[in-house]
Amino acid sequence: MLGLPLATAADADVVAMDGHGESSAMGSMGAIGLHLHAFQGLKERDRHILENSMPEDDPNENSATSHEEKNLPRWGPHHKGAQELAKLYSTGKRSQETVCIYTCIILMAANFCFIIRHFQIERCGTIVIAALCGIITADFASGLVHWGADSWCSVELPIIGKNFLRPFREHHIDPTSITRHDFIETNGDNFMVTIPCLARMLWDFLTKTNEEVQHNFSWTCYLFLLAIFVAMTNQIHKWSHTYFGLPWWVVWLQDHHIILPRLHHRIHHVAPHETYFCITTGWLNWPLEKIQFWPSLEWIITSLTGYKPRTDDFKWAQKRA
Ligand SMILES: [Zn+2]
Ligand SMILES: [Zn+2]
Repeated sequence: MLGLPLATAADADVVAMDGHGESSAMGSMGAIGLHLHAFQGLKERDRHILENSMPEDDPNENSATSHEEKNLPRWGPHHKGAQELAKLYSTGKRSQETVCIYTCIILMAANFCFIIRHFQIERCGTIVIAALCGIITADFASGLVHWGADSWCSVELPIIGKNFLRPFREHHIDPTSITRHDFIETNGDNFMVTIPCLARMLWDFLTKTNEEVQHNFSWTCYLFLLAIFVAMTNQIHKWSHTYFGLPWWVVWLQDHHIILPRLHHRIHHVAPHETYFCITTGWLNWPLEKIQFWPSLEWIITSLTGYKPRTDDFKWAQKRA
């Protein structure tokens, strides 16, 4: 815990950290007892994040500080809800992920070869701007999908629930589970999302004239970087939960906030998980927080439908026994 890069969170405006969810209401007093000494001198909002999110940098899993928490863990691999969700990962789902990973890698490699073949150095400036816009769009898309999956619908929904919403529920009550998933389980769904776009791009390279390809080249670079960062999002997210054994260059990218930093993402993991949804670079989290983007969207949806956000998420968090 003491090794966390606190500067990022200190810069963040954490307005939604009052923790009116179950996790922060229960057990935080125990955590305060154990970690109070370590937290002395930290800013109030940094303390709040560290006290109310799972201490993932604790290799001994000795974060439970009361008898009740040892028997009824509020997070981690011993949480009953997390165990139930983990069992719902099926062989059919695994097959779908494997097919998507290989298909996506082949499409990426083929498109990359065509991009290199058509690259012209004099258009470098436009291409860099297009690529940057692709990365920012990927960050926003990660936030939108993450917010949608966290906040609405239920694991009981046919097909979508078990296959695509289940990992989001599991991740909130056992944030470290992602660090135990292999490359296919971590990245299968994100790779799948990019396949239609990459397939269309390859079709265009194969069927259009050289002039037509050049005419759309900046747009192609935008879409390619968007696809790469969408595909890489959950791997970057996994790194943000990994406190041991990361390659030095990943830590460098995190420390310079080129990809999602660890403590920055921990802001999302304070119950009731209602902010900082962007998980690719995390660049948009602060501005979206400032304009109250997610609460406004939720207010509109609740006004129109009567549904309250995160009802299913809260239900799974309560399955402690
Ligand atoms: Zn989440
Ligand atoms: Zn996470």
